[in-house]
Amino acid sequence: MNIVVCIKQVPDTNEVRLDPKTNTLIREGVPSIINPDDLAGLEVALRLKDEDPDNRKVIVLSMGPPQAEVALREALAMGADEAILLSDRAFGGADTWATSCTITAAIKNIDYDLIIAGRQAIDGDTAQVGPQIAKHLDIPQISYAEDVALNGNVITVKRQFEDRYHILDADLPILITTLAEAAETRFMTIRGIYDAYKKDITVWGLEDVKDNLDMDNIGLKGSPTKVRRSFPKAGKGEGTLLKDVTADEAAEAILAKLKEKYFI
Ligand SMILES: Cc1cc2nc3c(=O)[nH]c(=O)nc-3n(C[C@H](O)[C@H](O)[C@H](O)COP(=O)(O)OP(=O)(O)OC[C@H]3O[C@@H](n4cnc5c(N)ncnc54)[C@H](O)[C@@H]3O)c2cc1C
Repeated sequence: MNIVVCIKQVPDTNEVRLDPKTNTLIREGVPSIINPDDLAGLEVALRLKDEDPDNRKVIVLSMGPPQAEVALREALAMGADEAILLSDRAFGGADTWATSCTITAAIKNIDYDLIIAGRQAIDGDTAQVGPQIAKHLDIPQISYAEDVALNGNVITVKRQFEDRYHILDADLPILITTLAEAAETRFMTIRGIYDAYKKDITVWGLEDVKDNLDMDNIGLKGSPTKVRRSFPKAGKGEGTLLKDVTADEAAEAILAKLKEKYFI
């Protein structure tokens, strides 16, 4: 059984800055991490593999620039069996549509049973890529997975809902999207890190997946979403400090401000 885990390398968002001229993220010098929901998805996959290591294989797949290899090596060091990097200049500038079309083309090259994606990437933040992949592959999907069990060909998923949980059973093949709280991630072991650097990472470019792709659906040209403008949130102003006033005077001052701004 092959479990494919989609992992995205994302900038550590606490440190993200925007270029005011180009409206793009400044990536230089910003540390990259594996997207937290994807790390949980990887852990879910590794736990399923631990239950039946001879028959279950974990394949990690990432679409990104060559430096995304670091994220894949980390996944290998944690216990993934194989890693595939989907990288080609032609894929650059992809929105969620082009990203999901390209990742789907790669997955079609793999004999998959279960596909795991994170619920949402912390930089793009759309939560669209996983469901779109399931749609392209015409397989069922369960999103917001918080707990996963596998019994033969049947997967049982505890799905988080607004005010309740759903427990769902489904036959494989299926795609699930995981929440960061689905599993606490294991640490890499020294042996795992050593082995990870001996393993090859398969790199697929356009040539390797083009038979499964419509060329109108890749990269910037194949991306229907255009970012018109991006800007950081404005910081809060300093505010006004009223000193040496009584409670009544403070209440009067607040009321006056609220009236001035037409809140009351
Ligand atoms: C016009 C435009 C141009 C853009 N140009 C760039 C660019 O040049 N560089 C750039 O990095 N981003 C770019 N983006 C953002 C990029 O399109 C999105 O980050 C990407 O499509 C994934 O969407 P998301 O981050 O919202 O993922 P979500 O839908 O929130 O991700 C859900 C899950 O899907 C999987 N997933 C998502 N992306 C990948 C991936 N690349 N590899 C493996 N698994 C994945 C992960 O499991 C993830 O947790 C651009 C967006 C637009 C609209």
